[in-house]
Amino acid sequence: MPEGHTIHRLAAHHHAVLGGAQVVATSPQGRFTAGAARLTGATLAATEAYGKHLLHHYRGGPAGGILHVHLGLYGTVADGPGQPPAPVGQIRLRLVGGPAVAAGGPTATAGATDRRHWLDLRGPAACELLTEAEADALRDRLGADPLRDDADPDTAGGRIRRSARPLGALLLDQTIVAGVGLVYATEVLFRAGIAPTTPGRRLTADQWQRIWADLVTLMRIGVRRGRIDTVRDEHLPEAMGRAPRNDRHGGEVYVYRRAGQPCLCCGATVAAGALAARNTYWCPTCQPG
Ligand code: ZN
Repeated sequence: MPEGHTIHRLAAHHHAVLGGAQVVATSPQGRFTAGAARLTGATLAATEAYGKHLLHHYRGGPAGGILHVHLGLYGTVADGPGQPPAPVGQIRLRLVGGPAVAAGGPTATAGATDRRHWLDLRGPAACELLTEAEADALRDRLGADPLRDDADPDTAGGRIRRSARPLGALLLDQTIVAGVGLVYATEVLFRAGIAPTTPGRRLTADQWQRIWADLVTLMRIGVRRGRIDTVRDEHLPEAMGRAPRNDRHGGEVYVYRRAGQPCLCCGATVAAGALAARNTYWCPTCQPG
């Protein structure tokens, strides 16, 4: 599942390519036909990411409103300039944006002057229109997002430090911390030297502040690079004379999906186990329980 940095990148990218554009929306798959009809003719005014949730704010058109997307495990989004490709597969929502016009929506113009941009959404866990009140309710349900300026780490830290649940599960609870997924949760605990099985109530206020600051730093790097890198300079492949990590999840990490391999810091074997029904990874030496 994409972690928060991916959704924040999507929000910024969608604003760059469709912001201010009047859209024609369709649902080639047919599962979002009514919603698409309500969006057609509206203008994308703003985009927003909150944790793993993506919001498009539309103005005008027949209804306008807020498009809410959660990619879940299988959702993907693709986009490109100009003429949209023939629909292939299960496209829940296709948006085609063009320069705002008074009526009739964007129109195709010839060749290099085609200023349209298309966007295809496939397989999302959520694709729905929300009112402002419903969007507020969604934000109220979510915890502190390290990538948002309005994040409230003190409330998140208070909840974590009152809980008997393991830190590895608490950091994944989107009602406490929003946008952190398994890779960031696993890696930030390694960098803090704390085992993922540690109960939240054993965390000191100081430790929480350091973990929060580290999440902010790591996730901002993720937004810039479009991948999750968590190793310090001295543990990079070139510094250690080792091969770069080869994994479909990309990025240089300390322990995530490195079970059975040597810890980059101490050489001990990286351990794996199940925690809250998810795989988790840690170094038994660097992260004593
Ligand atoms: Zn270690």
